[in-house]
Amino acid sequence: MRKKIVAGNWKMNLTLAQGEQLINDILQAGLKLEEGQEVVIATPFPYLAKAKSLLKNYPGFYVAAQNCSSEKSGAYTGEVSAEMLQSVGVDYVIIGHSERREYFQESNAVLAKKVDLALANGIKPIFCCGEPLEIRQAETQNDYVATQLEESLYHLTAEQLKDVVIAYEPIWAIGTGLTASAAQAQDMHAFIRSRIANKFGREAALHVSVLYGGSAKPGNAAELFSNPDVDGGLIGGASLVAADFTAIVQKLA
Ligand code: PEP
Repeated sequence: MRKKIVAGNWKMNLTLAQGEQLINDILQAGLKLEEGQEVVIATPFPYLAKAKSLLKNYPGFYVAAQNCSSEKSGAYTGEVSAEMLQSVGVDYVIIGHSERREYFQESNAVLAKKVDLALANGIKPIFCCGEPLEIRQAETQNDYVATQLEESLYHLTAEQLKDVVIAYEPIWAIGTGLTASAAQAQDMHAFIRSRIANKFGREAALHVSVLYGGSAKPGNAAELFSNPDVDGGLIGGASLVAADFTAIVQKLA
């Protein structure tokens, strides 16, 4: 059975004290995670070790970085390597978020290198894909997402793919208040799973978790998560409010 995951992406928000408070508020909500359900919290780099220590006695709670370097180590001032993330106990890393692709010109080829380094260091990539508005309007979103998958993930083995989580995040829905309809999400998630089946086989496709991201909130999460190919969510804005985030996690049930 594949995992059901709600991952919160704090982006470049919160001080250390605010982040600690948010994690404590989430933990105090007393969420009862069922078998196979996970909560992942993606904090800014400086808070990862602290987040890990706050979550370490809570089964089902994991820590994610929001990015990692495409290089292994060396003279890359300001970069943070996958090995460094591993050394502070990071479990997951978001790779290829649309903000990284847009503002930092991260190409599919660069993202493939990041995926490899994360896996080599025992960190599970949450690989983001998704189309901009003009591609959706031209109805070519399937080709667009297929290329993202091909160029960043198709070099992996089926065994490696088992450690990858895919997040479908239509760019027009991120932070805009616009959400893909449940049908639009299901269609794309089923398409992504079919591409994975095609390349890596049916077993890998049934195993891979595909999360939805884009203005998910307590009011729409249940409908989104009820789709057979939607295995949870990657949550931006609503992950900064403990009550909203925990309400979304509860919708996994
Ligand atoms: C995101 O940034 O991954 C995201 C889904 O943001 P939001 O939930 O705010 O749309």
